[in-house]
Amino acid sequence: LSLQVRRNNRLATVGQIAAGTAHEIRNPLTAIKGFLQVIGHKLKENGQQKEHGYIDIMLKEISRISNLVGEFLMLSKPRPTDLRAISVSKVLKEILPIIKNEALLHNVDVVIERRLSSIPLVIADGEMLKQVFLNLCKNAIEAMNKGGRLTISMYTDEAEQTMAVEIADEGPGIPGHILEKVFQPFFTTKENGTGLGLPICRQILHEIGGEIEVDSDEQGTVAKVTLPLVSSRVYADS
Ligand code: ADP
Ligand code: MG
Repeated sequence: LSLQVRRNNRLATVGQIAAGTAHEIRNPLTAIKGFLQVIGHKLKENGQQKEHGYIDIMLKEISRISNLVGEFLMLSKPRPTDLRAISVSKVLKEILPIIKNEALLHNVDVVIERRLSSIPLVIADGEMLKQVFLNLCKNAIEAMNKGGRLTISMYTDEAEQTMAVEIADEGPGIPGHILEKVFQPFFTTKENGTGLGLPICRQILHEIGGEIEVDSDEQGTVAKVTLPLVSSRVYADS
C-alpha cells in the first residue's frame, strides 16, 4: 500500500511538472510565431516564394505544438472537479454560438433535438462538460468537410437514472480497425490532429461518473455521452 501511495505521489508531481512545462512552452511559442509572421511578410514582399513557403510550414507546425500543449494542459486538470446539479440544456446553450460559428465555416447545419418532457438535471462539472461537447462537435464538423447535418439529441433513461446526449454527424464514418483506436492518446488520422480530444472526453466523463461510446457506420458517426441524473427524490430534497 505504501509503495502504491508513494508511486501515486510521484505521478502527481510528474504531472505538475509536466503541466508547468507545458505552460512555459506557450509563451516562447507566441514570440516565435509573431516574428515568423513578420519575416513571412518581408519574404512575400520580396517575391521569395519558396522561403515564404517554409515560413508557412513553420507556422503550421507551431500551431500544432500549441494545440497539443493546450489539450495537454486540459488533460493535466488545472483545477479540482466541481460536481453540481446542472442542466445540460443550459450548458449546451452556452457553447452553441461557438459550435454554430464553426459549423457555418464548414457548411454544416446544427439541429438540436430535445426528446424530453421536462428539463432534467445531471450531476457534472459544467466547465468540463463544455469541453466534452466542444470536442465531440468539433470532431463531427471536421468529419463533414463537404457539409452536412450535426444533430445533438438529448433524452433520459428513467430506469437507468441517466441522461444521454448524442452527437451525430453525416460524415464518412470510422472503419472498424480505426474505431478500436480512437480513445488511444495521440491516435489521430488528421494532418493537424492531436489525438487527445476523445481521450480527454473519456477521462472527464469517468471523473464525473459518466460514460462515452462511439458508434459508426457509412452513414456517419454517433458519439453518445451518458450522465447520471439527479434523482427526483434528491432534487425534491435540495
Ligand atoms: P483528433 O480530432 O485530434 O484527431 P480525437 O481524439 O478527437 O483526435 O479523435 C481521434 C480520431 O478519431 C480522429 O483522428 C478520427 O480518425 C476519429 N474520429 C473521431 N471522431 C470522428 C467522427 N465524428 N467521424 C470520423 N472520425 C472520427
Ligand atoms: Mg478531435
